[in-house]
Amino acid sequence: MKHTKVKDLLNSTQTLHEVNAKGWVRTFRNNQFIALNDGSTIHNIQCVVDFENTPEATLKRITTGAAVSVTGTLVESKGAGQKFEIQVSKLEILGDSDAEKFPMQPKKHSLEFLRENAHLRVRTNAFGAIMRVRSVLAFAVHQYFQEKGFVYVNTPVITGADAEGAGEMFQVTSLPLDNLPKTEDGAIDYKKDFFGKHTNLTVSGQLEGEAFAMALGQIYTFGPTFRAENSNTSRHLAEFWMIEPEVAFNDLHDNMDLAEDFIQYVIKYTVDKCADDLKFLEGRLLEEEKSKPQAERSEMALLEKLNFVLENNFKRVSYTEAIDILKNSTPNKKKKFNYIIEEWGADLQSEHERFLVEKHFKSPVIVYDYPANIKSFYMRLNEDGKTVGAMDILFPGIGEIVGGSQREERLDVLLEKMKVIGIDEEELWWYLDTRRFGSAIHSGFGLGFERLVLFVTGMTNIRDVIPFPRTPGSAEF
Ligand code: ATP
Ligand code: MG
Ligand code: MG
Ligand code: MG
Repeated sequence: MKHTKVKDLLNSTQTLHEVNAKGWVRTFRNNQFIALNDGSTIHNIQCVVDFENTPEATLKRITTGAAVSVTGTLVESKGAGQKFEIQVSKLEILGDSDAEKFPMQPKKHSLEFLRENAHLRVRTNAFGAIMRVRSVLAFAVHQYFQEKGFVYVNTPVITGADAEGAGEMFQVTSLPLDNLPKTEDGAIDYKKDFFGKHTNLTVSGQLEGEAFAMALGQIYTFGPTFRAENSNTSRHLAEFWMIEPEVAFNDLHDNMDLAEDFIQYVIKYTVDKCADDLKFLEGRLLEEEKSKPQAERSEMALLEKLNFVLENNFKRVSYTEAIDILKNSTPNKKKKFNYIIEEWGADLQSEHERFLVEKHFKSPVIVYDYPANIKSFYMRLNEDGKTVGAMDILFPGIGEIVGGSQREERLDVLLEKMKVIGIDEEELWWYLDTRRFGSAIHSGFGLGFERLVLFVTGMTNIRDVIPFPRTPGSAEF
C-alpha cells in the first residue's frame, strides 16, 4: 500500500478508512502512543498502537529513531493540538534504532553537539524546520528571477579568476600531491598545478556572470562558492551558496532596487509557505530568550521581524553619511566601539554595521558609494574620483548580507585601476574583452544564501543553516 505523507494526513478534511504512514519514531509513550514524523511537516502524527494485540517483542522495538510503517484508520483525535491520529491495525518495524545509542534523544541538545552529528541533527524538529525553510527559500530565489526573465547561469566551480582578490582561495591541483611542479628555487609552482595552468575553487561567479549579462541582458547564478576563510565567526563558512544577479544597462540605484525587491519577495514567499515551521522556530527562540537577561532579549519575535522587513523600505545612506553617524556615536552609554573610526576611508567593521542597523536606523540599511581603495577593482569609479558605486546591504543580527556594485564599464579606467593594484592584464584578457566589444553599464550583487537563511530562521550561527557545514577544522562528513 502506498503511504501518505504525514502532512497530508494531518491536513485531511475527513476521516479515512485505511491509510499507511511511514516515518521515524520521535517518542513512544505509555506503550501506546507513537509520535511519528516523516519530514514532510514539523508536526508529528500520533499513532495509537493496539498494545494488547501487539507482541511484546514488537512493542520493544518501537524506539526513538526507529523507522516504522503503520497502517490503520485516520480518526479524529481526542488529544489536544491535533485534528487526526492513526488508530493502528498493523505495525511494521522497518529499521531498528538502538535507543540507548541513538544520539538524537528528544531531550535538548546543544547546537555544538548537534553540529558534530550533522547527519542525524536533521532528525530533530528544529533542523527539519530549518532545512525545509532553506529549500523553500531556494525555490523562491529561482521563482523570482525566472518570473522576471533572468537566465540562470552556472558559472564554473574550478576557475582561474580571483574576483575578490582577497587571497582566500582554495587551490586546485590535478597532479599528485607528492609530485607537484616546482619553481627553480624548489617551491611549489602553483601556476602550473591544473593541467599546466593555475586554478582555484571559485570565490564568486561574478566575472563570468558579467560576461553572460553582456549577452543575455539579465542573468543570475546560484551555486556553491568557496573561501579559505580562516575566521571562526558565526557568519563565515568555507563553502557557502551565493546568489549573484547581473543586469546590463542597470546602474547602482537600479541594483539597490533589485536587491531590496528580491529580498522582500523571497522572504514573503517563505513566510507564506512555511508558516508552521517558522512558528515553531519562533517558539524555540522565545524559549531561548527567556534564559537571557532582559536587556539582551531581542525586541521583536521572529515573525514580527520578518514582517518588519517586508513592510518597510531599507534605509539608504552613503558611506560618507554613515561615517558621520558613527563618528558621533557610541554603541551605548558606557561602551565605545572597539575600533573607532576617526577618518573617512576606513572600512566599516561588523560592530559598526550592526550599530547602524540595530541601534541607529533600526532597519535594514543599504550603505553605498564606498571609498575606492577599500573595495574591489571592478567597481565603477564615481565622478568624485575617490568613491566607487558599491553597495552593501546590512541586516540586523548579521551585518553584511549583500555586497554589490555598478561595474567599471570603461576599459581605460579599468586598465588603469588594474595596473595600480597590480592585477595582470593577461590573466583577465577575457574579462577585458567584455569592455572591448560592446561595453555598457551594468550592475549586480552577491547575496550569501546562508546569511539569508540565518535571518529568516532566526538562527545565530551560520553552521546551523547549511546541511554539512565546512569551517576550519570541521569537514567530517
Ligand atoms: P564579509 O565582509 O562578511 O566577509 P565579504 O564582503 O567578504 O563578506 P563579498 O565578497 O561581498 O563578501 O560576497 C558577497 C556576499 O557573500 C556577502 O555579502 C555575504 O552575504 C556572502 N559571504 C561572503 N563570504 C562568506 C562566507 N565566508 N560564508 C558565508 N557567506 C559569505
Ligand atoms: Mg569576507
Ligand atoms: Mg564585507
Ligand atoms: Mg562584501
